Amino acid sequence: MAQRLIVIGGDAAGMAAASQARRRRDRGDLEIVAFERGHFTSYSACGIPYWISGLVPERDELIARDPATFREKFAVDVRMRHEVTAIDLDRREVVARDLGGGGEVRERFDTLVYATGAVPTKPDWARAGAGGVFGVQTLDDGAALRAWLESEPRPRRAVVVGGGYIGVEMAEALIQRGLSVTLVEQAEQPMSTVDPDMAELVTDAMRAIGITIRTGLAVTGLEETDGRVSAVVTAEGPIPTDLVVLGLGVRPNTALAEAAGLPLGVTGGVRVDRRMRVAGVPGVWAAGDCVETVHRVTGMPVHVPLGTHANKQGRVAGINIGGGYATFLGVIGTAVTKVCDLEVGRTGLRERDARAAGFEFVSVIAQSTNRAGYYPGSRPMTVKLIAEKPSGRLLGAQIVGWSEAAKRIDTLAVALWNGMTVDDMTALDLGYAPPYAPVWDPVLIAARKAVDALTATDR
Ligand SMILES: Cc1cc2nc3c(=O)[nH]c(=O)nc-3n(C[C@H](O)[C@H](O)[C@H](O)COP(=O)(O)OP(=O)(O)OC[C@H]3O[C@@H](n4cnc5c(N)ncnc54)[C@H](O)[C@@H]3O)c2cc1C
Repeated sequence: MAQRLIVIGGDAAGMAAASQARRRRDRGDLEIVAFERGHFTSYSACGIPYWISGLVPERDELIARDPATFREKFAVDVRMRHEVTAIDLDRREVVARDLGGGGEVRERFDTLVYATGAVPTKPDWARAGAGGVFGVQTLDDGAALRAWLESEPRPRRAVVVGGGYIGVEMAEALIQRGLSVTLVEQAEQPMSTVDPDMAELVTDAMRAIGITIRTGLAVTGLEETDGRVSAVVTAEGPIPTDLVVLGLGVRPNTALAEAAGLPLGVTGGVRVDRRMRVAGVPGVWAAGDCVETVHRVTGMPVHVPLGTHANKQGRVAGINIGGGYATFLGVIGTAVTKVCDLEVGRTGLRERDARAAGFEFVSVIAQSTNRAGYYPGSRPMTVKLIAEKPSGRLLGAQIVGWSEAAKRIDTLAVALWNGMTVDDMTALDLGYAPPYAPVWDPVLIAARKAVDALTATDR
């Protein structure tokens, strides 16, 4: 008799696991059932800001594989609009509710993949039900926001609450749609994923495209007129608006896991081993935004909800379930984003992370350009490196600049992943031609500067 795999969550992690398991085990050997409470499978939430801005015209362009493809090509029994409401580990069953009104089903499993993603932070004031308040977690959220933008009376003003990368991307998207946008951030600066000196460059770029930035300020409530939001309330007075977008971060979606007795880690994510097996629970796997992982530089548990990890972790789980061998070795915090043409990349530790982890370090900032100075289109590029003292091991890097800045972080990510020192990095054989870099690449200039700083501290 075929074994039975049940997947909870039909996006990046869950469907990567399902498709990898299927590649290794045919339907006579493994039956796969996937429950998804939403309307879509394998969609790119990452693309939502570009759909909102209009750069990506159609919603369906954000869908990598629809349920029909999974059914036909991967023989996965995809149950859309089915929310799993309980996991019974003793009976090896899940209970799911048909959100289309079809009642409840119980399904047996031999193997379970828990891939429920994350829950966006939604303060009480955002729950009150005023029209015009949106998250951007799912394609349904994106569709609701787009419909509001196209409804009458046409919204002209927007407030984005939260200045993380999603808030920044959404602020840009709304500016591109011609709205007047205010970004409200409780901390002293938006883009706290990089150090304040680098975040300042991003803040300047945001202001330059017309985004009003209010920092050190919290939204505490909403004002509404005729059921529509008309202002956000702050300690410095109301900010009038026709719509509010929430970008306040997420936490692992573990309510079901917790109720079933799956172990959670200190960050709140499900605890898994390198093969994505849930710690101490045979036959149960977890992947994606719902799990905790390890930071390779500090060795500490972290929750880093990114699509890049969700896809890899799902793949690892699926390969292992399929009878292969794969591991997920942790993260180093690499991420990229942009504000219009200004690109931002980071990897490893920020100064405050390095300090909190007890490292002694130097940090340097090198100013350079993305191309040879004389080549048309040459623009500034700022590279920051953080290197351990006295070893010189690279601990972290950040880049802000125009074209070719963001993906340059990958060079630094590879160096950091492999434990390179800044001394080693000065000898790297990196590509050079005037259209792509100055003769000394910004990465090499920064590495040399870090070596100088280490030498000056009597390493
Ligand atoms: C606006 C935005 C921009 C982003 N940009 C980037 C980016 O540029 N780069 C990057 O790496 N990451 C980005 N991300 C993050 C990325 O989208 C997530 O990390 C990724 O989607 C996580 O995949 P997942 O499968 O773990 O979770 P999800 O994508 O959240 O999928 C989980 C699925 O489980 C379903 N589900 C949950 N509970 C149940 C249940 N009880 N029963 C049935 N179904 C259930 C949900 O409906 C959901 O479809 C962005 C996210 C957003 C919102």
